Amino acid sequence: MPADATALDPMSVAGPWSLLIGGAWLQAASGKTLPVLDPATGEQIAEAPAGEKADIDHAVAAARRAFDNDAWMGLGNAARARIMLRIADIIEASVERIAQIETADNGMPLQFSRLLVANAAETFRYFAGWATKIHGTTSDFSSPAMEVLAYTRREPVGVAGLIIPWNSPFSFACSKLAVCLAAGCTAVLKPAEETPLGALLLGRIATEAGVPAGVVNVVTGGREAGAALAAHPNVDKVAFTGSTETGRAIIRSSVDNFKKLTLELGGKSPVLVFDDADLAKAIPGAALGIYRNSGQICMAGSRIYVQRKVYDQFVEGAAKVAGDLPIGPGTTPNVLIGPLISARQRDRVLGYIDNSRTDGAEVVAGGKTWGDAGYFIQPTLITGADPVSPLVREEIFGPVAAVIPFDDFDEGIALANDSVYGLAAAVWTRDNSRAHRAAKRLKAGTVWLNCQLVINQSLPFGGYRQSGWGRENGQEGLEAYLQTKTVISAL
Ligand code: NAD
Repeated sequence: MPADATALDPMSVAGPWSLLIGGAWLQAASGKTLPVLDPATGEQIAEAPAGEKADIDHAVAAARRAFDNDAWMGLGNAARARIMLRIADIIEASVERIAQIETADNGMPLQFSRLLVANAAETFRYFAGWATKIHGTTSDFSSPAMEVLAYTRREPVGVAGLIIPWNSPFSFACSKLAVCLAAGCTAVLKPAEETPLGALLLGRIATEAGVPAGVVNVVTGGREAGAALAAHPNVDKVAFTGSTETGRAIIRSSVDNFKKLTLELGGKSPVLVFDDADLAKAIPGAALGIYRNSGQICMAGSRIYVQRKVYDQFVEGAAKVAGDLPIGPGTTPNVLIGPLISARQRDRVLGYIDNSRTDGAEVVAGGKTWGDAGYFIQPTLITGADPVSPLVREEIFGPVAAVIPFDDFDEGIALANDSVYGLAAAVWTRDNSRAHRAAKRLKAGTVWLNCQLVINQSLPFGGYRQSGWGRENGQEGLEAYLQTKTVISAL
């Protein structure tokens, strides 16, 4: 069936927006709503239902029923794949409309949201391919005493709670839902309270594409709604992206019914710039590696270690790039730096910058708010920070990088690995052997050599150490939604 671009025609930022539960569009049981603020202006642009425990209970019951009644797996794998491809087609036909809503919801520059939305369609296509390629193995351990037929089945784990953060709402909703549907699970999707629109939009698209009632449920709401979903005894798996602190709470909530967990948590990713690096590429590469999406990317390279011989040149170049990046509302053409998500987040980030000044560090670019409205912070570069200060240790989740010199390979690796996190790391060098030796020694789930922020749905993504459990994307991402049954039959 061709994509139906008109399916989303009634959708505008202003809504109306409703919860999707069991195929019905509903208001929260309490009748309460959440205000949706445009981060570029601070003004209310919409309202979404403020779902609570009662709505989560309702949605989990719908997802449970759909799973137990085979509403999704019963269609057959080929039909499931076709529906997922239809979701991709609808997204692709509506990239501009979805990107406008994503930018209004989250604030990110339109050129960035267009790319992410277009890629979300590819994520559905990639995982639609997997839906028809999930199978077990056979084993022949027959003996004269017993002849058997033995095989394994790969089965969906059941009802999945998908909990996502605010920094890339539509694409996180898509990457979580695509793999969940490919595996045959049913879902309750809970977006962040700051950015409820992307997940509701995806619920609408899934419905238009023919996903049966109850297979995909979307409940917007605050932290209590997330906590209710994470603790629910009828949820078999939680896939969570968010802060390390919330990840800990979710681990505790999983104990009673032994939920399977995938946790994509915080980061403080290091960047190593060696003195033989192509600085014409490394300087803008490392700068955009932290400033893209105003630093609100879990894998942002917020600790930049530069070999001493090129340190001054790097700092001068990176400060210039930071100062030149076009900043403003995400809807303004050519803007690369949009607002932060909220006043709270802006003030938190400013606190780190101000404290670093008090501690004797030097702000060599940015360091201030921008404009008269909204939650903007200039791209900020800081030198002279103490390697054990909060600026260098803690996840800031804003457009702030610390630059620190190092002398030799071993020192650079040791500094890079000196963190409780381990999400990603980047290396800039022209020496191939050095690059791969560094890749081997860095303690991170993803290592980029002469590039940054490159990820793909076909490649596993996840964290070492306190950056998470398990992997999303690729075959490993799919495995996290499957369990194995062994069948042994005497012949
Ligand atoms: P957060 O942890 O505060 O919230 C994330 C989601 O969890 C929201 O939907 C929230 O409502 C929900 N939630 C809050 N408390 C909960 C609880 N007790 N139980 C269940 N759900 C709960 O994170 P945030 O501030 O929205 O997002 C920023 C964080 O996300 C950063 O730490 C960032 O590094 C991380 N992140 C990680 C990745 C990754 O792939 N590793 C990607 C993006 C963002």
